[in-house]
Amino acid sequence: MSGERQLRREIIFFGKMLHDRGYVAAMDGNLSVRLDEDRILATPTAMCKGMMRPSDLVIVDMEGRCLAGRRCVSSEIGMHLLIYKKRRDITAVVHAHPTTATGFAAAGMALTQPLVSEVVVGLGSIPLARYGTPGTPELWEALEPFVPEYDAILMSNHGVVTYGEDLHQAYMKMETVEHFAQIALVTHVLGRQEPLAGQDLEKLILARSKYQGSRSSARLPVAVSYASLDENQLVGRKRAESSLSELVSKPRGGSRPR
Ligand SMILES: [Zn+2]
Repeated sequence: MSGERQLRREIIFFGKMLHDRGYVAAMDGNLSVRLDEDRILATPTAMCKGMMRPSDLVIVDMEGRCLAGRRCVSSEIGMHLLIYKKRRDITAVVHAHPTTATGFAAAGMALTQPLVSEVVVGLGSIPLARYGTPGTPELWEALEPFVPEYDAILMSNHGVVTYGEDLHQAYMKMETVEHFAQIALVTHVLGRQEPLAGQDLEKLILARSKYQGSRSSARLPVAVSYASLDENQLVGRKRAESSLSELVSKPRGGSRPR
């Protein structure tokens, strides 16, 4: 794992990326990295993520108690801690409010349709967690059922959380979610969607096993209703799902303890 000084620089860098790209406004959003088994380095509360310095960051223990830093930790630290506890394989969490994806979350719409091949391979599916008041256990209790199975979650009427094996991966997933949300929005504007299905979907699921994203546990996009598929598509879909469950159940190289 990178040294603490390097990780502080990475949080500053990706915080600025979030702000520069308009994924957060004002003091919104938060980022963190796992320093070791017992300590998390996180962004402070009430600071613009585009204007932080390394010395502004806070170190907390796994109960959220402050161990180092002049500022108070983000009020969303409970969400970060839940994710670190549930996912031993990840070392970084990013939370932001990117406009389009948050729009889907405010409309009560998950991003689970398999519309774009790269998203199916790299991220799988992005579910929508029910609303929970920010900064309270309600919020992380709403996320909890999804954390073991997905790497990116929409938070109803709030925003998006992503996590990964390092901060770069966690941030990139945030970009992928927002980009995919923009594409999905265009399909809604056009009034047509042609979700991937059948053998095409099956091949993408198998490709996940060879791709870096296969280390993600994210599930197959689930929003295609069986009723909308013809007989061939239905057979392909069921085959794809059983291939996926095999991939998920087989221990892979570098797989995490579950
Ligand atoms: Zn938020």
